[in-house]
Amino acid sequence: MGVLICTAFIFTAYRFASVAQGAQQQLMNDRAGWMLDGIVVFVPEIMAQPNVLSERLAALVAENETVKDLVVLVRQGTGRWSVLASNARTWGEVRQVDQFMDTLYRSALSDPTSPYSTVLGTGDDRRFVTARAIVDTSGVAHALAVSEQHLSQADKLLADSMRTSFYILGGVLGAILLFFFRHARIIDYATLYKKQLEVDEMKDSFISMASHELKSPLTVIRGYIEFLKEGSLGDSERAEYLRRIDVSADELRGLIDDILDVSRIEMGRMRFSPDRVKVSEVCREVVDMFSAQAGAKGLTLVFEPTTEASDAFVRVDRGRLKQVLVNLVSNAVKYTVTGGIRVTEQLEYDRLTVAVRDTGVGMTAEDQQKLFAKFYRVEAAETKGVAGTGLGLWITKYITEHMGGVIAVESIKGDGSRFVISFPLQGREG
Ligand code: ADP
Repeated sequence: MGVLICTAFIFTAYRFASVAQGAQQQLMNDRAGWMLDGIVVFVPEIMAQPNVLSERLAALVAENETVKDLVVLVRQGTGRWSVLASNARTWGEVRQVDQFMDTLYRSALSDPTSPYSTVLGTGDDRRFVTARAIVDTSGVAHALAVSEQHLSQADKLLADSMRTSFYILGGVLGAILLFFFRHARIIDYATLYKKQLEVDEMKDSFISMASHELKSPLTVIRGYIEFLKEGSLGDSERAEYLRRIDVSADELRGLIDDILDVSRIEMGRMRFSPDRVKVSEVCREVVDMFSAQAGAKGLTLVFEPTTEASDAFVRVDRGRLKQVLVNLVSNAVKYTVTGGIRVTEQLEYDRLTVAVRDTGVGMTAEDQQKLFAKFYRVEAAETKGVAGTGLGLWITKYITEHMGGVIAVESIKGDGSRFVISFPLQGREG
């Protein structure tokens, strides 16, 4: 935009300059024409008195400040013109002119009806030369009135105007840049403010969610402890209550772990101990961990590695890889109502890929873009009742990428989701 304005301004300035220069030359032409028109009237009468004629020419020059030279010439031969009278009060000398000027003078001499003019020289030496034939009393044109006007004054005026225009352009440009800069900063502030509001909103909902998530397992635990205190319970009842306390304690620990992980990540204190890890073993452990939970929901949960993939190793922190897979599989179980979950593992060129595919609620493309943001939870009727903090995938992405991996999601709302992680292959068994 700035470049466009500048170009337009420079273009206009140059156009203005060339128009002004044209107008200036036209004005000079007219002025020279009028002056020479006057000269040709009185010259024939005093042609024989060079001193008188020269005085008249000098008087005319004194009245016209741009006219520097005013002479009456008579042709002597090719390129040779003798001065009959001049404003410098000289006469008799012979002027040798080049072919161009000779042609111009001769054209003027042969056409007494109008003056002939041209611009000579460059820079400070630019001159406007006009020649007009003088017809004597017998109607013969044998002398020329030639005026020379200097353009340097007008050129200087034009150059001054151009310089002023460029100063103005500089000022305008500065103002535009300042405006752009401030505008960009305002936009930055506005985006920042909007982001801050979003984060604040997500934090608020996280706090209310987290306190609820912390409270509910605690309430469950305290309730069952009260039952257990009564002492009148049978063995099977006691075992069931203890199992429920265990589940709730696990939930509580998971939540606290997530919060601790977030603070560790933010402080740059999350530790990783990379090792040679067989991913298929970790996948199997995680799938086994969730099979009961999936079964309780009537979902299938299977692990399908390819033969080459099951022999492959990657270099990661085993515990952290397990954490990633636990989050992906637990989400798949959490957000699937019917159908099941398939965990597949395969080798793709020099990478090992694990995909967790479910037939769950899925999500829109817009949700997929924000999915890995901190505290982000999809707000949809299908996910309303499902407990969560919106931290799992943020942590998962951080861990995966920190171990040299990549995480991606593909999902269709209502059809299901497919989360894929991949790591550079480190080697294969044997
Ligand atoms: P949480 O599950 O605790 O809310 P996550 O960060 O693990 O937090 O997930 C963020 C959001 O992504 C979830 O709230 C959920 O809406 C959506 N999501 C995650 N995994 C799936 C999945 N497999 N199917 C559908 N939605 C999912």
